[in-house]
Amino acid sequence: MKPAPFAYAKAKSVEDAIKLLGEPEARLIAGGQSLMATLNMRLSAPKLLIDLNGIGGLSGIAVKGGRIEIGALTRHVELERSAEIATHAPLIALAIPHIGHAAIRNRGTIGGSIAFADPAAELPACLLALGGEVEIAAAQGKRSVLADDFFKGLFETALGVNEVLTAVRIPMATKDTRAGFSEFARRHGDYAMAGLAASAKAGGKGLSEVRLAYFGVGATPVRARKAEAALIDGDIEAAVRALGRDLDPHDDVQADAATKRHLAGVLLRRVAKQLAEPRP
Ligand code: FAD
Repeated sequence: MKPAPFAYAKAKSVEDAIKLLGEPEARLIAGGQSLMATLNMRLSAPKLLIDLNGIGGLSGIAVKGGRIEIGALTRHVELERSAEIATHAPLIALAIPHIGHAAIRNRGTIGGSIAFADPAAELPACLLALGGEVEIAAAQGKRSVLADDFFKGLFETALGVNEVLTAVRIPMATKDTRAGFSEFARRHGDYAMAGLAASAKAGGKGLSEVRLAYFGVGATPVRARKAEAALIDGDIEAAVRALGRDLDPHDDVQADAATKRHLAGVLLRRVAKQLAEPRP
């Protein structure tokens, strides 16, 4: 199918994009890897597409004050190939190869993935597991929203209609940071039936600051807080049992709820092993 007719504008700056968002039924486009599919299937029909790709300064990876700042237009492939990401954000490095295929990673952006907030996507769950935050620009200025507060519902976020996601920030990994990632997909590159992104600190006898973010098992990425507490106590099987109270998956096109529940436990056992291993 072909998309419904739309007008096109290339934004010159973030301010320009915000102004253009004031037009009726306007929509931003970044990598187009999710939006074009919805347009072609006529699941959405905006009157105006505002292209962010010409805006300088919206792309790139910078280490700033103990955090990594990633510009919204940074492509998945740049994250995949970045030495800074491999060193300072190992969880992202583990997750990226699972996103679609090379052609998709060449165009798709971190800002687009976080803003689109597909519940089965890898990067929103990583942002949540890392305790990151999102920078949002509006006519009134910029604000930051913690990942814990950003994902509101199915494809629904804290982004307002006239706002642009400009960057994400994540705490830099330290020597004692541990990262774990695993997912089940029908074929490599498909969206996950269920997945788990996790971060923790090693210290004393075990783990602290455990953050488990599941994807593909709810309307948003989901923290498994009771399982996190059990893992801090060093009891993996209690953590797996706690998932019964943490998660409430529903049937979807990928798998039924019972399968997702089962997979969540398998993922937790795998990821707990990864968290127990020191960083190479
Ligand atoms: P776009 O498609 O351009 O935009 C998506 C949405 O975000 C739109 O509503 C747009 O208005 C909004 N938006 C974009 N940028 C901003 C911004 N800066 N501020 C505010 N709103 C913004 N993703 C996965 O995570 N895992 C997968 O396994 C996976 N598999 C895929 C397989 C296929 C075949 C395809 C086509 C895509 C797949 N994707 C997958 C999606 C891919 O990761 C996309 O790149 C990503 O979801 C959206 O990024 P984008 O830059 O392409 O955004």
